[in-house]
Amino acid sequence: MRPLQMVDTKTQYLKIKPEVDAAVLSVMESSQFIGGKVVNDFAANLAAYNGVRHVIPCANGTDALQISMMALGLNPGDEVITPSFTYIATVEAAALLHLQPVFTEVDKRTFCMDVEALEKAITPKTKAIIPVHLYGHAAEMEQIMAIAKKHNLFVIEDNAQAIGCDYTFGDGQIVKTGSIGHIGCTSFYPSKNLGAFGDGGAIFTNDDALAEKLKMIAAHGQSKRYYHEMVGCNSRLDAIQAAILDIKLQHLDEYIASRTKAADFYDNAFAGYKQITTPFRASYCKHVFHQYTLTLNNVDRDGLNKYLAENGIPSMIYYPVPCHKQKMFDAFGGKNYQLATTDWLTERVISLPIHTELDEEQQTFIASKILNYIN
Ligand SMILES: *Cc1c(COP(=O)(O)O)cnc(C)c1O
Repeated sequence: MRPLQMVDTKTQYLKIKPEVDAAVLSVMESSQFIGGKVVNDFAANLAAYNGVRHVIPCANGTDALQISMMALGLNPGDEVITPSFTYIATVEAAALLHLQPVFTEVDKRTFCMDVEALEKAITPKTKAIIPVHLYGHAAEMEQIMAIAKKHNLFVIEDNAQAIGCDYTFGDGQIVKTGSIGHIGCTSFYPSKNLGAFGDGGAIFTNDDALAEKLKMIAAHGQSKRYYHEMVGCNSRLDAIQAAILDIKLQHLDEYIASRTKAADFYDNAFAGYKQITTPFRASYCKHVFHQYTLTLNNVDRDGLNKYLAENGIPSMIYYPVPCHKQKMFDAFGGKNYQLATTDWLTERVISLPIHTELDEEQQTFIASKILNYIN
């Protein structure tokens, strides 16, 4: 059996090596390392894939979030509602801009923003909502957009873990996550579903004026060369990454299919065991399984983690500490929150290896060890 890893980017690379190597060499020969045709072509192809008018490439997913909040003209102290059960970057970008993060609960089944809790968290100071499509499962965007409209709020989707996820509206219309809010953000961190060979990120929007502003902010607030209209930052996707991503984008649907197949295998293997709750799949979206995360019921999680490690099986806790309990947010009142579901999940979730290169022999071994432990 091949050794087990949480992600296997190496084997994935070897399958497309000739194409990728040629694309990288071609950028090196052109010496157009920043901007230019390769980056623009990738942005256009990604826009077409995601069904969105504009894609603004940038340096990473965290920058994408920061630039988005800068472009919306939010002011210090404005409240931004986010789940606490997410990766730190979602909330850190808001704090960096002196906005006030307001932490909400998540739904116990989807791990995504609880819509009732969201509506209760809205105050006259609320300006934006940042739903996170955690682990590759979409938040309830139709309801979130309706609430946003009612209260005149911006919505920034954190789509870092869900690129390619199909979302179905009540009327049957199907769109990709990241294209529903006013802005969508994604990350090309190597382990993400569309991963670069380094850092990268992108911002999506259907709003022409906002697109101009986002582009400007990512380029030192520059409107034309050496004319700077507003304070921005320097956030670029380099051409080598864009060349690689453009090739991997052509395989993204295959990659999602492989992940889903692996998830189906696990679902079957764990069906009927009351100690294990497998990932919920809401009918309104098609999970893209950035992570395959179990919720354990009356299982010693640390013991399981250790037992799996002893058997050469990696497993991860995403995330061991929710944002509201991070020291970073003490100054933002994080400690004042009581988020029972978030805390409950934080103590019970465990993510198993899931990636495009898992085979049945590996999955059979992983599942048998887990069942061995719980029985
Ligand atoms: C990865 C990730 C980010 C940040 O992306 P980087 O490219 O690492 O900056 C933001 N939000 C979520 C939910 C993520 O998973």
